[in-house]
Amino acid sequence: MSKNQIPSTKYHLPIRTRFAPSPTGFVHVGAIRTALFSWLMAQKDNGVFILRIEDTDKIREVEGSLKQIEDSLRWLGINWQEGIDIGGPNAPYLQSERLDIYKDWANKLINSGRAYADPYTKEQLDKFRDEAKTQKIPFMYRDNRPDSLESEPPVWDGSQPLRFKSDPISYKWTDAVMGELSTGPDAIDDFIIIKSDGYPTYNFCHIIDDMMMKVTHVLRSQEFISSTPKFLNLYEALQIEHPILATLPFVMSIDGQKKLGKRDGAKDILEYKKEGFLPEAMVNFLATLGWNDGTEQEIFSVSELIEKFSLTRVQKSPARFDEKRLLWLNGQWIRRLSIDELSDRAGDFWPESANDAPDQLRRQILTLVQDRLKTLSDLPTLTSYFFKDPTPDWNMVKSDKQLGKMATNDIVELLKKSLVTLTECSFEAESLQQTLNSLLSSTDQKPAVLFSIIRLSVSWSPFSPALNETLAVLGKEVVTKRLQFAIDFGSQKI
Ligand code: GLU
Repeated sequence: MSKNQIPSTKYHLPIRTRFAPSPTGFVHVGAIRTALFSWLMAQKDNGVFILRIEDTDKIREVEGSLKQIEDSLRWLGINWQEGIDIGGPNAPYLQSERLDIYKDWANKLINSGRAYADPYTKEQLDKFRDEAKTQKIPFMYRDNRPDSLESEPPVWDGSQPLRFKSDPISYKWTDAVMGELSTGPDAIDDFIIIKSDGYPTYNFCHIIDDMMMKVTHVLRSQEFISSTPKFLNLYEALQIEHPILATLPFVMSIDGQKKLGKRDGAKDILEYKKEGFLPEAMVNFLATLGWNDGTEQEIFSVSELIEKFSLTRVQKSPARFDEKRLLWLNGQWIRRLSIDELSDRAGDFWPESANDAPDQLRRQILTLVQDRLKTLSDLPTLTSYFFKDPTPDWNMVKSDKQLGKMATNDIVELLKKSLVTLTECSFEAESLQQTLNSLLSSTDQKPAVLFSIIRLSVSWSPFSPALNETLAVLGKEVVTKRLQFAIDFGSQKI
């Protein structure tokens, strides 16, 4: 077994994964995908998923981001078994509350000769950097180590940065997603492990925490891959085994040309909630960003994902963020909801005019529009005419392919006949369909003409569900009133 291979006992532990975001802004799709993959792995193995908050960069911290992280995970059902809020055997899970722990480990490194107080001022370091630049060589801090100083390096009193004394060597290691990787000694430098403000760096404290929290698999974004040799060096210095490392490729914009930016969908995940996306669709979408189960299957429930997810099928190349696909998946998931479920989810998405509508009516309407909803925020556009008389817009008649060719007078006549016939009809969907069919023959019109003008007159909306069902839900009183109104309105245009 090579030096960096994981001892086989690790594979027999129940899987313990973690999500370790920094509260430096909202969590976006890329980060949440990392959380989801980590969570799926732990769930599959009846293991533990940990939520640890890496708040050691106090300058970059953004107020409110911790809550946003928790709300995002909760919305998606990514629940943690140990971590912030709920505690656990390795508490605390907020890194800023673990400073003494990091200090202890830092002292261990000092005592074993593997860490030292930085003797240089910022100005001196800048000078080293400039010199390296002039000589066109990369600046490596280790070339200016205090070993080369004539005087003794300072004793670390916490006011200077503490640096790791690296042992720059070549590495070969196996990444569970990327496969065999290797680097030369130049990838390793004497990096800072504790800053002069007393907070540890990510490079140092995540290693201590992952070890203490017995994390078996570290899944993280590609941006950390270049730092991995440093981590391996530190693991060795601390004499601890490293967990299984799995690097998730970047999530790119749809054209695959750049890392996902705000415009391409890299927004606060909770924005999607506000826009009427279902968590089921979002989970399905995120899980299939760079993973598939080897078949053509596109729709996965959470339980299927837990059953089928495996790191071996995570692709090495960057995933492309296709917002249209998310929209499609959302429509698919909306269709899969029962009317009870859809009704629960619809909540605040109803138009204001629906506020006083009876629940029974709302359910009837949901049944009608369910197949057309791409997001829950389509509800007002698709349903408001059920609750409130719409404003007629004769341009809709004029711009209709068929109606636009007809004389206004003929259209009004058609509406008058429809009104008379519909007034005599009982307003159940089935008899309405018969009546509409008989109107087609008595007027000698095509559905694209007759049904379109009735549809427009009652809804003034470009889309409505099946006409007979729409009329049945609106009821005779409303339908006849709106038809009469359309007749009067059209007559003024003659
Ligand atoms: N705090 C790091 C970040 O938010 C975590 C990286 C990791 O998962 O180890 O990017």
